Amino acid sequence: MKRIGILTSGGDAPGMNAAVRAVARKALDSGLEVFGINYGYAGLVAGDIFQMTSATVADKINRGGTFLYSARYPEFAQVEGQLKGIEQLEKFGIEALVVIGGDGSYHGALRLTEHGYNAIGLPGTIDNDVPYTDFTIGFDSACRTAIDAIDKIRDTASSHQRVFIVNVMGRNCGDIAMWAGVASGADAIVIPERDYDMQEIADNLKQGLANGKSHGIVVLAEGVMSAEKFKDELLKYGDFDARANTLGHMMRGGSPTTQDRVLATKLGVHAVELLLDGKGGLAVGIENNKITSHSMLELFEEKHHGDMSLYDMNKVLAK
Ligand code: ATP
Repeated sequence: MKRIGILTSGGDAPGMNAAVRAVARKALDSGLEVFGINYGYAGLVAGDIFQMTSATVADKINRGGTFLYSARYPEFAQVEGQLKGIEQLEKFGIEALVVIGGDGSYHGALRLTEHGYNAIGLPGTIDNDVPYTDFTIGFDSACRTAIDAIDKIRDTASSHQRVFIVNVMGRNCGDIAMWAGVASGADAIVIPERDYDMQEIADNLKQGLANGKSHGIVVLAEGVMSAEKFKDELLKYGDFDARANTLGHMMRGGSPTTQDRVLATKLGVHAVELLLDGKGGLAVGIENNKITSHSMLELFEEKHHGDMSLYDMNKVLAK
């Protein structure tokens, strides 16, 4: 193997650039030529491909987003789209790939592996919804952004004795809500993985205010419902001065945290090691602080398991 390609796909996440840098530098150090592919699978099919040097990835480790850009390209789910991508791989002499993205991106990577182009997947998404990894690249940065915002919301909430419903991203995964909720001392965390009792939440908020708390914070995962809708429901159970706030896409931006940069670096280096061993169709992750890899086929059968002890712990501490 002489040439590898790198692409980022699906939703962007802080730390994707650090992963691209690690893959490129490790591959160059191993005597490989490295090609960047812009705009995910769309750019692969369009031949938007360029040779990378060590300098290409300089000054990138600290930057949010992805300098290789990302795109949704549903056509890659069809064989026709995949064959067009392979034409470009042949044209550029690229024999293997590292794909940084989520579950959908892994499907594309597996298809390429089946066509004879080994591809390794790295979990790049803020949602932390990828199986066989305790953390995805971008999750920690998104949590940091969420707690920065919640801390600020708490200042204004306290000044007016208000209840704030803060909707955080994460799609159907409640991890961001759980981690950001625990880290910001939320009065309630509401996630898709657990049923909630609106009466209990309202009673707890009322009790908190009666006990001298100057605010109430509910951290709501976007997969449950909108902040506005939740506020309207909550007001049926208590007479609060309540406001709804949705953090939205700001959670995807910003400079990656130490944890995300180091995670991206470790996973990127390991992806190249696997390609050098002639392996493909594997997703790399971190489990119990060890770098691991699993077959993508196995991964598609599995679900991400969040640390639910955080949810239970918060219920006790929020009283
Ligand atoms: P995120 O979780 O951040 O949204 P993702 O990788 O799951 O990331 P998707 O939009 O699901 O995001 O997938 C990214 C891209 O992967 C798609 O636009 C498409 O090009 C490719 N892809 C998705 N599903 C398949 C599939 N079944 N076969 C081949 N390629 C696919």
